[in-house]
Amino acid sequence: MTSIDRLIANTIRADVRAVASYVVADASGFIKLDAMENPYQLPAELHEELGRRLAAAALNRYPVASYASLKEAICEELGVPDGYNVILGNGSDELIAIIDTATARQDQRATVLAPVPAFVMYQRSAQFAGMDFVGVPLTADFALDMPAMRAAIAQHQPAVLYLAYPNNPTGNLFDAADMAELIDLLGEKGIAVIDEAYEPFAQTSFMEHLPEFPNLVVMRTLSKLGLAGIRLGYMSAAPALLAQFDKVRPPYNVNVLTQVAAEFALEHIDILDAQADSINAARTVLAADLAALAGVTVFESSANFLLFRVADSAAVTDKLAAAKVLVKNLGKMHPLLANCIRVTVSTPDENAAFMAALAAALTESTTS
Ligand SMILES: *Cc1c(COP(=O)(O)O)cnc(C)c1O
Repeated sequence: MTSIDRLIANTIRADVRAVASYVVADASGFIKLDAMENPYQLPAELHEELGRRLAAAALNRYPVASYASLKEAICEELGVPDGYNVILGNGSDELIAIIDTATARQDQRATVLAPVPAFVMYQRSAQFAGMDFVGVPLTADFALDMPAMRAAIAQHQPAVLYLAYPNNPTGNLFDAADMAELIDLLGEKGIAVIDEAYEPFAQTSFMEHLPEFPNLVVMRTLSKLGLAGIRLGYMSAAPALLAQFDKVRPPYNVNVLTQVAAEFALEHIDILDAQADSINAARTVLAADLAALAGVTVFESSANFLLFRVADSAAVTDKLAAAKVLVKNLGKMHPLLANCIRVTVSTPDENAAFMAALAAALTESTTS
């Protein structure tokens, strides 16, 4: 052991040392369909104005700590109910960490519950906050297993339940009545976080239901809508609950460039909404094309990605990569996802290039 190894052994938590790094594939030269990004940029005629606004930002100053103007724009443009506000995160990943930090009580281990397969950050963040993570498998058709969910809530009394709506990586919307039952079941003992990262595509939301559920947090992000690069998430909840989370938030967690870019984008939200509409239309085409391919099963999606199953997802993913198309092989993530691949819906051209590469990959793997 070297000196630095001994230092790490003496100081870094064993569970952190044991965990594998979050690997992000190098995408240069690839058609990038692995991260649910919007393929479209803001139109060129807006670039100059955006540039001027960014140039005018006071980079020498800390952000205005209240973020009042950006919060106001979000509340106005994105359907936050009257009497409710939001807090902002450096991506919704940070908001998840804030929720877990605020609920990871010290006197006994608290539990985070989520149906699985789920967004991986729910488990990671719970672990890093020192919480137990309990994953309850979905049914074979990716619905909430309600008897198992009720039993898990009774047994583990989770401090936080995460439900992604639509779910990542499966793409489907859970039944809203089932979700409402679980939120009620948690009652005063647990917080239900509805993660609506894909709301721009699903166009259905729990946001308007906030007043009905005192223990509900609705979390969203601008990432999948088309601004993944600026890293901005937001969440709303009963004001008293939100105030507790706000204490845990680092004071200047959203930088001024993000703030300016987000305010600018929200002034042009119609453009982003139109992009989401065309991605939805492209999803319908891509789903039909996938379903028409022999050896492919495609699942229902309300998000900007599709999940599909092939005979050998690892081989197909490798062949797609050799053809410079990047997708996510989920075959090893969870038994329910055996031989499943997730692909982001992109432009008609990129979708066609993906389909051609997939058809070639499937032909090769059946003939070789
Ligand atoms: C992508 C994604 C996020 C992360 O969003 P960021 O704001 O980019 O951190 C959160 N939740 C789900 C379900 C996602 O798929």
